[in-house]
This record gives sequence, structure tokens and C-alpha cells, in this order.
Amino acid sequence: MSSRTTELEEILTIQRRPDHGTLFVVSSPSGGGKGTLIRRVLDVVPNLSYSVSYTTRAPRNGEVEGREYFFVDRKTFEEMVAAGAFLEWATVHGNLYGTAKRQLAEETATGLDIILEVDVQGAASVRDLSLDAVSIFILPPSYDTLRGRLIARGTDTPEQLEVRLRNAPEELRQYSAFDYVIINDNVKRASNQLAAIINAERARRKRQESLVRAVIENFETS
Ligand code: 5GP
Repeated sequence: MSSRTTELEEILTIQRRPDHGTLFVVSSPSGGGKGTLIRRVLDVVPNLSYSVSYTTRAPRNGEVEGREYFFVDRKTFEEMVAAGAFLEWATVHGNLYGTAKRQLAEETATGLDIILEVDVQGAASVRDLSLDAVSIFILPPSYDTLRGRLIARGTDTPEQLEVRLRNAPEELRQYSAFDYVIINDNVKRASNQLAAIINAERARRKRQESLVRAVIENFETS
């Protein structure tokens, strides 16, 4: 069995346990504002972790190794691909990005829910793995808002900005494959909605089986 299969098996095994953490897959076109929403939600929703991806993109001002990303060179990334280290990986706007299996396995095994912030290709790859995952698509309210956010961020060259805007319509068309859609017209409203989705998913019967069984057992033995 390849290491890729073994690690995926490990995640699938964890997911068969009643008390495993849930994967929340959050996607949007770049500049859709998902980073801001996710940061706000991580501050207010307990027991929620963030999957730190690997990327070959250079760090932006203020980005910290191991917080926003693990920044690696292309050779290291390709070695990790060959070793089966990624649950999914994709080329996005010319750079490589990948979700490592290890952090996912470790954190969901302890019951922590985890947010994966990935592009639409990453979301499709996770869907193909048939994991127990909840997918959420975040849309900017308009082309002008997206363009304005990318310009305000000031991190892209005019060419990079052009690529991101050109890729946006195709990315937006993928919305129909997601479980939930949030229009990010107002950060407070949209982040409340993201937190509400996570909390509602936590209340699903299937995610509470072991807790409910403990309550019932308590009644039966009292
Ligand atoms: P940025 O360069 O703006 O940080 O990210 C560019 C795009 O790559 C964003 O849509 C972001 O969500 C996506 N991305 C970040 N990490 C990953 C990952 O691990 N896998 C995939 N497929 N996309 C990612």
C-alpha cells in the first residue's frame, strides 16, 4: 500500500468514529474575502482549527510562516506530492497550494473541527474523496467589489491582478457544487452566517450520536 493510500485510510478511519471532527471546506475566488470571514469565525467559534496549507507562493507583507501558510520551494512541494503528503493540491494562479494530510488527521482525531481554505479545484478534489465534509462557497457581491478588494490588498502586480480577475467568472460558476453559499456583502453579516452554518452542522443528529447515547444510557441506569 502506498503512503498516500495509508494516510487517506487513516483519515477515513478517523471519520468512521462517532466523535471525529468535521471538515469545513471554504472556497471563493481569490479576493472573495474568505480569509477575513474565517479569521473572525476562528475568534468566536470554540473547538475550531484552521488547516495551514503549503504553498510555493512568496510570503506577503505581514504573513508568518506556519500561520497563513508553510512557504516552501517548488522542489520541496513536489517531493511532498510524490510522498503522498497532500489530501489535495492544485496550481492556483501559477503557484502550488496543498492541504497536508497530517494536520487534518491529528486534529480531527481529537474531535476538533477544521476549516480548509482552498480554491474551487481543491474543493472538488475533497468532494471526490467522499469524506464527511461540509462545503461553503463565498461570493463577492460584485465584480467591482472583488476588483476593489484585490487592488486594496495591494499584493498583486497588474498582471497577477488581471489573472485573478480573469479566472473569477469560471470559479464563480462552481458555486452549485457546494452545500452552502454566502454572499460577502457585509463582513459582520457574512461571518455570522459562516459561524451559524458551523454551529448548525454541529447540531446534526449524526454528529451527536455518541453524546445522545450517553444521555440515554444515563437515563437507563438512573
Ligand atoms: P492566496 O495566494 O491569495 O493566499 O491564495 C490563492 C488561492 O489559493 C485562494 O483561493 C486560496 O483559497 C487557495 N488556496 C490556499 N490554500 C490552498 C490549498 O491548500 N489548496 C488549494 N487547492 N487551494 C488553496
